[in-house]
Amino acid sequence: MRQDFVLTCASCQTPFLWTPAEQRDDQEQPPLCPVCRHLLPAEGRRRGLVKFCSLRKHWGFITQPDGVELFFHRSALAPDEAWPLTEGELVEYAVEPSPRGPQAAALRRLLLTDTTTPPPGS
Ligand SMILES: [Zn+2]
Repeated sequence: MRQDFVLTCASCQTPFLWTPAEQRDDQEQPPLCPVCRHLLPAEGRRRGLVKFCSLRKHWGFITQPDGVELFFHRSALAPDEAWPLTEGELVEYAVEPSPRGPQAAALRRLLLTDTTTPPPGS
């Protein structure tokens, strides 16, 4: 009889359950926990946290998962996204080259919390 297995996420190292129902559906042990599977960005895109956003200068920086900071300009924000971004907000973006180095493009918020809770870091 199948039973729960405790697996360790390859991304965040958190133990998670692999249930008998999932074992029936999955061919192999899933490498990532459900949270990381949910959080994985679309192909060609990355996710990071807004580190800084200048209202006056219309640009800011994103802290990426590898710790490298990425420049963004207000024009990189998708048209339906409100300006400014807030420090600590989770965003998804593409990276494109510019004369001054890589910068964010097609920048969007990832809304994982409702608007009544303050964003992390505030
Ligand atoms: Zn994980």
